[in-house]
Amino acid sequence: METDVRKNPGLLKLDLYCKGLKIDDSCRADEDGRGIFRTRAGLGSGLEVILPDNLWTNIPVVEPFVKESPYVLKKEGKDYNIYMNGDFVCKINLPPQPKFYEKKTSNGVPMRRIGVLQGTYLGIYPTGVCEYWLQEPKVQCKFCSVGLNLGTDDEVEKRIQDVVETAVAAREEMGITYVHFNTGFYEGDSFMDQLEPFVKAVKKETGLLIGVQTPPHHDLNWYHRLRSIGVNQISFCFELWDKPSFDACCPGKSAHFGLERYLDAVEYCANIFDTTNGEIIAGLEPPEASIESIDWMTSVGAIPTVCIFRPLVGTEWEDKPSPKTEDMIPIFARMYDACVEHGLPMGIAPNIEVSIVMNPEQGRYLSEKPNAKPLNRIKMKLMGVAFRAWFKMYVSKFDRKNRKKYKEAAMPI
Ligand code: SF4
Repeated sequence: METDVRKNPGLLKLDLYCKGLKIDDSCRADEDGRGIFRTRAGLGSGLEVILPDNLWTNIPVVEPFVKESPYVLKKEGKDYNIYMNGDFVCKINLPPQPKFYEKKTSNGVPMRRIGVLQGTYLGIYPTGVCEYWLQEPKVQCKFCSVGLNLGTDDEVEKRIQDVVETAVAAREEMGITYVHFNTGFYEGDSFMDQLEPFVKAVKKETGLLIGVQTPPHHDLNWYHRLRSIGVNQISFCFELWDKPSFDACCPGKSAHFGLERYLDAVEYCANIFDTTNGEIIAGLEPPEASIESIDWMTSVGAIPTVCIFRPLVGTEWEDKPSPKTEDMIPIFARMYDACVEHGLPMGIAPNIEVSIVMNPEQGRYLSEKPNAKPLNRIKMKLMGVAFRAWFKMYVSKFDRKNRKKYKEAAMPI
């Protein structure tokens, strides 16, 4: 593996997640970029940046640990440059603020309060606050900031029409291909009943790829139903493989579902959806445990999503340290190696750049055997070419219809 961050943008992306970035007074990140949002799922809070090799990322900038970072962002002329301990590392780009953030839906709601771009896809949390935040004593996951976001940066209750119009506006302006719905926990497993009408409407109106992230429903028939209404991808955030660590970190999830139910759902869905992801947080358990969970997920046909723990301000674990880069490297290398070994599809869908995690294919930057299994990698490339061509054709008829139908829907604020 190339160990110089100036020559290895994947390592730079990882190192910036772990160490953060100081912002020099010369920067006008709010004017030139997207501003700083507390984005969905409680693990992204920072500055959206595009690193060399078109690696999108969301870099911590406000958490206290960032003060110790060797990295500084400076604006020089029109360029934004990263320095490490005073040495030039690279020029980066700040993705511009989407114009649809400044528009309102036909119900008068600012679209930026309906959905947020996380990299190049639209993330929507369509339902009320996760009920783990409302119970007394509180049982929310200890890293999570969802209960701090809703009603501040995000509309608490969203209407279906508002969500559809925001998705159409994001598609028209940014060419998004994928909408990701995320819910928390609601008594009686009602998260699916609440989510279903949003998913149906967005799929029917836009034809876009749809991802869903919820707790594991007790009735597994729900997953066939989601598939039949057009959900392409499903993910389950079990966060930690080590059971005592899971119980300590996620008291609500532990009491209502338990780790086993999450794992059963991952295994069950791997045979139903185009992609099933198990989501874990690296940095809250020994790296060996994270690697064990990656090996298990890939063995059942699921693709790991590995987030780096970020001690977000205001969360219960805000005082925990950010992980060390050297501890994280073997985890992300294994994520890539294991997906290739099992021939799992990576990076096939068009225009999906994810800022809040390292994509599985980006683990290649950290792998000691980036050229292993050449046939599997060629197969993946060909699948990507075929899928992108099909999707472009499929979605264009929705685009043509929506250009007329929603012409008047998006109004300036
Ligand atoms: S289930 Fe946990 S991580 Fe998900 S929204 Fe609720 S508290 Fe946050």
